[in-house]
Amino acid sequence: MAKKELGFDTRRISAGYDPAGNKLSVSPPIYHTTAYDFRDTEHAENLFTYKEEGYLYTRVGNPTVSYFSERVKSLDGAANAVAVGSGMAAITYTLLNLATHGGTILASPFIYGGTIDSFDRLFPDLGIQIKLSRAVLDPAELDKELSQTPDVKAVYVESITNPNAYLLNLDELTAVAHKHGVPVVVDNTLATPYLYRPFEHGADIVVYSATKGLTGHGNIIAGLILDNGNMSLYTKEKYPQFFEPIEMLKGKSVSDIFPNNFFIFRATLVYLNLLGAALSPHDAYLGILGVETLSERLAKQSANALALAKYLEASPAVEWVRYPKLPSSPFYELAEKQLPKGGGGILSFGIRGTKEQEAKFLNNLEIFHYHVNLGDVRSLIVNSPDTTHSELNEEEKQLADIPANLIRISAGLEDAEDLIADLENGFKIAGLL
Ligand SMILES: *Cc1c(COP(=O)(O)O)cnc(C)c1O
Repeated sequence: MAKKELGFDTRRISAGYDPAGNKLSVSPPIYHTTAYDFRDTEHAENLFTYKEEGYLYTRVGNPTVSYFSERVKSLDGAANAVAVGSGMAAITYTLLNLATHGGTILASPFIYGGTIDSFDRLFPDLGIQIKLSRAVLDPAELDKELSQTPDVKAVYVESITNPNAYLLNLDELTAVAHKHGVPVVVDNTLATPYLYRPFEHGADIVVYSATKGLTGHGNIIAGLILDNGNMSLYTKEKYPQFFEPIEMLKGKSVSDIFPNNFFIFRATLVYLNLLGAALSPHDAYLGILGVETLSERLAKQSANALALAKYLEASPAVEWVRYPKLPSSPFYELAEKQLPKGGGGILSFGIRGTKEQEAKFLNNLEIFHYHVNLGDVRSLIVNSPDTTHSELNEEEKQLADIPANLIRISAGLEDAEDLIADLENGFKIAGLL
């Protein structure tokens, strides 16, 4: 076959794994091993000094885990990737790697509750300041904010935000951040590379909770860190951690060893190795299976979410609906441009009733699962302010646009009519219709 870049749908079932190297096994083998034999002492030394590629110990590398990260790397058009044991590990390792010696992370307030929790309870004690700012939505504001805030080590955003499904103009945002020499980290969990590929819009680092729509079956906890291979923003003055000699590397720095991949290399060598949230090879295998159906799942979830959003917008039981593909959404134009394949499976709405009525509604749904996950094949519903985002204080909730009556839906793959009938029945039992 003539050599040309394979399409997205071909790569999601083939990239990063070759049966020829694995006894022609079509499905990737699960390498359930803790360690790997050294052929001899020279081999051991070469592995430890990174003169030779290979596997040492599964906490820092495993073939099945690599098949998983290589596949997602291909889908996102990334240059480098590592898979870790959870989305939270991906996020914390990334930010620790950027702000090792302190500094500020300028973050969007429209993000996952657990991420905000880490901003409140983990990073400040490590000398890393987090500034939540709506400036990420407006390039001129961001420019001002970056001029006024000293030592910003990264801008941190979600591409489709949780739980409100807001969007931002990443092309403009990354241009402003780069002007200030600041890399941009994008949590692309809700969008997945099927709907949106942040590297094509200037992102420097992409993180995933692969627990969610990327793998999509609600059966694993997993995360990924990807980068674009451009290391030029990480200067010696601002990010000395990449240029310091390391004893274990025989006095070399991570950038001496891998000049084009020192960000992910250091994240692996320091944080994955020493904090240890490794992905299990079995979970990596389940992740690979999930990615094989990514396109169909995200397309159907997007279609179902739009049908639910339209139903909810017309319902007297509902105060407001937030979904970027609704023509009434302030993000509609951006969504038409940025998300041509669909708006994703997440939407939120404000229930028009008391807390008791809200409880009755949630307690009487039969098809929707009531829990905190998202991106699953089954439809999920949750009262975010009291659960997924309960860690936020009142000020953070206001900044993140999370009113007390917000309900988040993650649309699954069921028949839209059944989902609508379930909501309708719940509203009726709650006395809202
Ligand atoms: C769930 C989630 C996370 C955290 O991922 P885990 O795999 O649960 O650790 C991070 N970001 C977003 C947007 C999420 O939805």
